[in-house]
Amino acid sequence: VGPASDTDTICAIATPPGRGGVGGIRISGPRALAIAKQLSSITNIAPRTAHFSSFKTPDGELVDTGLLLFFATPRSFTGEDVVELQTHGSPIVLNRLLAEICGLGGRLAEPGEFSKRAFLNNKLDLVQAEAISDLINANTETAAKNAQNSLQGAFSSHVNGLLAKIIGLRVLVEAAIDFPEEEVDFISELDVQTQLNTIITETELTLNQANQGQIIQEGLTVALVGAPNAGKSSLLNQLCGLDKAIVTDIPGTTRDTLETVVNIKGVPVTFIDTAGLRLTDDVIEQAGIQRAVNTLERAQLVLFLMDASATSEQSVSLFTLLPSNLAEACLAHPFIGVSNKIDLLDGPIPQIQEATTNVSIAAKMGLNIEGLKQAIIDAVGLHPESEHLFSARQRHISALQSTLSALKNGFVQLQEHAASELLAEDLRLAQQAINSITGEFTNDDLLGEIFSSFCIGK
Ligand code: GDP
Ligand code: ZN
Repeated sequence: VGPASDTDTICAIATPPGRGGVGGIRISGPRALAIAKQLSSITNIAPRTAHFSSFKTPDGELVDTGLLLFFATPRSFTGEDVVELQTHGSPIVLNRLLAEICGLGGRLAEPGEFSKRAFLNNKLDLVQAEAISDLINANTETAAKNAQNSLQGAFSSHVNGLLAKIIGLRVLVEAAIDFPEEEVDFISELDVQTQLNTIITETELTLNQANQGQIIQEGLTVALVGAPNAGKSSLLNQLCGLDKAIVTDIPGTTRDTLETVVNIKGVPVTFIDTAGLRLTDDVIEQAGIQRAVNTLERAQLVLFLMDASATSEQSVSLFTLLPSNLAEACLAHPFIGVSNKIDLLDGPIPQIQEATTNVSIAAKMGLNIEGLKQAIIDAVGLHPESEHLFSARQRHISALQSTLSALKNGFVQLQEHAASELLAEDLRLAQQAINSITGEFTNDDLLGEIFSSFCIGK
């Protein structure tokens, strides 16, 4: 992976498709300035100055007027010469200008190519480049705030701090291997253990934050299951405040899986209302039940809703409500038992025996919906109000997990076998894994994969 100088000059419409007040085109690369001069007929384009200009075709026809901005290498987003044009937000105008730029030696940018060049020119590390895309795609204010934290380097500084500590320890351990006889002031084995322990604890903390960051960015999927008439549709209506789900009095009428996204304390939560989970001979319902089982597999949390007014027992086993394979599928996830219709009760509220968390609500009346929302956030270990979160992706989480397992292996080698050579090797692996997060040893395939998911023009 070398510097991206000496490359094509790329261009793209940077504003969203469709009509708008203002439209923007971005050009980056060695020919950017020459192209801008021909388009605008401004001869002396000072950098970092807003120039009002006309933009004309090669035969002098006026396409539009607008602003032209020039950022000279290396002080630009990509690190290359960058020109930005702001015109009226007409797709016709923007496309004509884009075609003209291509005629003058530019070429259409691939998705994420501007950000990729910024990364290759060391303007951003990989985590920061990914954070730009996460910021653009954020669905809640909290997700946007986290992405901004990552873009400003919050995640990278955790990673770099861990990296420095791992390297520091590696140097010590390898020196002790290379000069075993020397009377050098090497730290004792106990100190190595203490340092290693600290690094492991910090890695776990960072992994926990990254996990939360990923859930807040990508959202949480919650399966809403329960017998027909338990009140699933009513709860869904309460949660989203819309009449999206159909509420009926006839059991078994919710046959399609309905998905609703609700912002709960800054976390985009997708609720999937499933057809009533029960055994039936009805062919259509059988299909619905199979969908419910499939839904369970992709959910990160299961809410089991029970009509609390329909039972006289205080503690109800999930296995008496569902066939055992379905009950097991439910309990394989973080699980919340929800007792609904408590407005109809005078006595104690029945609860699901196997649930570690039980919440009582009256969906129809909107009673304790807030309590349920908090229980959902708690059940997956989220603290979305924390100031210290950052956006993260599966790639980062996998790398942190590899780092952690290498560190833990090293700890075992040291403690059980006093094996410095093996510890040194594990530290090397840990360093390699954590390095991949910010992009030190990243290969071209991975870069292609990361940047191809970006918007065009970013
Ligand atoms: P689903 O089949 O699980 O989706 O259940 P619905 O949401 O369609 O509700 C079934 C019936 O129970 C409807 O008549 C609802 O009005 C009623 N219901 C739902 N929640 C409550 C509640 O909290 N209290 C009372 N009294 N009735 C409810
Ligand atoms: Zn329903």
